[in-house]
Amino acid sequence: MTLSQKQQKFAVMVARLIMWADENGCAVTFGEAYRTPEQAALNARKGSGVANSLHTQRLAVDLNLFVGGVYQTSSSAYRPLGEYWESIGGSWGGRFSKPDGNHFSLEHNGVR
Ligand SMILES: [Zn+2]
Repeated sequence: MTLSQKQQKFAVMVARLIMWADENGCAVTFGEAYRTPEQAALNARKGSGVANSLHTQRLAVDLNLFVGGVYQTSSSAYRPLGEYWESIGGSWGGRFSKPDGNHFSLEHNGVR
């Protein structure tokens, strides 16, 4: 599979995740999807991300979750979305050593 084909597969997976969220009473808005390598390097220097982020490969998206109209900031609130995402083959940021619950990615070359 080429990188482009993988990115296309990821986009369809995100569509499925958003439909699942909607059908299960979770409202989401888009956070960050594509991130430039320059921004990723800056985040890494600030300690708020990694330089080789999958956002730079178009293989990660951050979604903002609202439950009952309230924006959810804790990673644990995203667990149902994360478990669904994993069930369709994705990697969920809530499993990271420093949990990042709103981060949904598709593993690539060992990076999640
Ligand atoms: Zn992210």
